[in-house]
Amino acid sequence: MSWENGGFAAVFFDLDGTLVSERTGVREARSAVGTRLIELGLFRKPASAFADTVEMVIGGIMEDNDWQWPLWLHAEEWMKRSLAVEDIVVSQDEFSELNQVYRDERSDRAEAIQGWPEALAAARKHGPIGLITNFNDGPMQREKIRGAGLEGQFDGVYISGELGVWKPEPGIFEHAASDLGVDPTDCVHIGNNIQSDVEGALAAGMQAVLVEEDDRPRPPGLKGDVVWCEDLQGVAEWLQG
Ligand SMILES: [Mg+2]
Repeated sequence: MSWENGGFAAVFFDLDGTLVSERTGVREARSAVGTRLIELGLFRKPASAFADTVEMVIGGIMEDNDWQWPLWLHAEEWMKRSLAVEDIVVSQDEFSELNQVYRDERSDRAEAIQGWPEALAAARKHGPIGLITNFNDGPMQREKIRGAGLEGQFDGVYISGELGVWKPEPGIFEHAASDLGVDPTDCVHIGNNIQSDVEGALAAGMQAVLVEEDDRPRPPGLKGDVVWCEDLQGVAEWLQG
């Protein structure tokens, strides 16, 4: 088979915002934290008001970061900041419990993004498929993969929190390629974050595809050979080329 895109020894995907929606179920999971706060007698507004606060906190951080999700912004971090904004003081046990509520709700509500079967089928024609995902909590990320119905779709799952190396460090891309027995320069990585996915993949010598679920402002001056797809259907078509 000859490919217009050159053909790839392996195709790698990012998870959050690429294969699993960062919109569906996220607000509900944040509201569930509000519900638990109300049950604990710590919050006197509607549960959804806590989700509003989280969105405001994250929005402020994103605005300061060129609308990219910063690598350090884990759930514990926005949880801590959102509680502070609401003047809510919790014990360490309560804080752990609130994080657990969020994790459980988020995993239960995880939903794969439309077009994923076509994108993975098109990738499968090239070779093995790997998942490379930045997430500090490996078990939660695996729960999310299960919850979204994507379990068993990948030949390798590489979670930064389990490996101790994070995108955009080339090491995580190199580790994934090596684990699948391929050379990074023969691979493509598909993700939704300019910094971690695109710049990381390029630094590791992979071809990079940017797929965006949201209409964020496009950053100026992307370096390197980057393919821009609007959705997973576009990714599938490009992979078939
Ligand atoms: Mg992502």
